Amino acid sequence: MTSQLRKRVYFDHSATSAVLPEILGAMEPFFLERYGNPSSIHEFGREAKTALDDARQKVANLICASDPSEIVFTSGGTESDNLAVKGVAMYKGKMKGHIIASKVEHHAVLEPCEFLKRFGFEVTYLPVSSEGLVDPGDLEHAIRNDTVLVSVMMANNETGTIQPIKELGKIAQGRGIPFHTDAVQAAGKLPIDVKGQNIDLLSLSGHKFHGPKGVGVLYVKKGTKIEPILLGGGQERGLRSSTVNVAGAVGMGKAAEIAMRDMDATCQKMKSLRDKLISEVPKSVPRAYLNGHATKRLVNNAHFRFDFIEGEGLILQLDFKGIAASTGSACSTGSLEPSHVLLAMGVTHQQAHGSLRLTLGRENTEEEVDYLLEVLPGVVSKLREISPFNETRPMGPGEGGCSV
Ligand code: PLP
Repeated sequence: MTSQLRKRVYFDHSATSAVLPEILGAMEPFFLERYGNPSSIHEFGREAKTALDDARQKVANLICASDPSEIVFTSGGTESDNLAVKGVAMYKGKMKGHIIASKVEHHAVLEPCEFLKRFGFEVTYLPVSSEGLVDPGDLEHAIRNDTVLVSVMMANNETGTIQPIKELGKIAQGRGIPFHTDAVQAAGKLPIDVKGQNIDLLSLSGHKFHGPKGVGVLYVKKGTKIEPILLGGGQERGLRSSTVNVAGAVGMGKAAEIAMRDMDATCQKMKSLRDKLISEVPKSVPRAYLNGHATKRLVNNAHFRFDFIEGEGLILQLDFKGIAASTGSACSTGSLEPSHVLLAMGVTHQQAHGSLRLTLGRENTEEEVDYLLEVLPGVVSKLREISPFNETRPMGPGEGGCSV
């Protein structure tokens, strides 16, 4: 592909992904002729309920849940995280206790933790290594007699680093503490087995793996003590009142089915493109460094930082060339605060500002990766010419290497 074509290239699949035509097709009847409320007892209601049950089963299959009734449909990853953190901590109206979360959690976990602190809870934030990993030993030490919840994400939305969930879950469960993991970025890219990985609560979001926006799931293991945060008509076994978004749930169910069906092939393809980016970007751009773990990372994530670069400028310049990328998570875009994830990993404020997250999807091609590799060096050197942080000496390709 030449730069003249200016084809649009989408490397921001961790922000959101396209609804696949197959998924849209499965959803469509539930907007048109099958629009019943699944709580209604007439035929319209019954057919909606059947579709909802089927979607629940498909999501249960994706995460190896033994019973579809453990799947609670929500409005997205944010609501699932809020329900897990607040719902477990505040069980039976409790207003005190100790929560453990990692420093690199998504804001959908961190903000509920901060909210609970205002009402008397205490929170310990676990540190991470320079590669973004939580040390299970730190979790052992942080647990107290009054710890009510441990929450550590399966894979980070910025760096793609994959946490040792099975070990962390074993430690928490071994002390009788519910273990929650935010698997929003992991779905479709990592095998998930809630029983085998010692997970009590798990959050998913439909739009991150080709389902629609505005639908999510919280897996709640049978017997987990949790209070609803939305009260009303008692839908979703009383855990999440409000008429269920049937079309959304059907779309998420279909997305789960497709994720399982295609996981091996799509992961293999994304991994080879990711590996090309990881090996080629630091060769073609001086002083470029990989963020996150070299191997324990999502198959679709290549996240770099560049000296003397301001990330937002880089995103805009790439956008001019038709390439959609991100500095980190979509929700922090527009914020001048450096990423809390990179700071927790020991990256300096200045370097944290010079980040580029490229997240691949099933439709990306090698040609598109080559186009990025063709365009990026010129864009970076142009930005460095005007950077106030730049050192004046010229830099050659390969200088500085890659800190993997
Ligand atoms: N958790 C993680 C790890 C995420 O990446 C996101 C979205 O970026 C969320 C939670 C929030 O999901 P949603 O946008 O569906 O509310």
